[in-house]
Amino acid sequence: MRISVDRSLCEIHGECTFIAPQVFALNDSGDLEYAEDATGGDSEMVRDAAMACPAQAIRLEP
Ligand code: SF4
Repeated sequence: MRISVDRSLCEIHGECTFIAPQVFALNDSGDLEYAEDATGGDSEMVRDAAMACPAQAIRLEP
């Protein structure tokens, strides 16, 4: 699964980093970093993170 975040929408709420910490993280500067691919069990958490994102900024492609 390919992951992308629309940074024009992302407001750094951080929900995704709690739900899928293997994929999303805030760096020391407070910016969002994320893996661009997820497989297996991570994919399920990434879907949950995308649904929970208040800004609906997470885009997923199979
Ligand atoms: S939950 Fe959405 S708005 Fe918040 S940091 Fe993650 S992608 Fe950005």
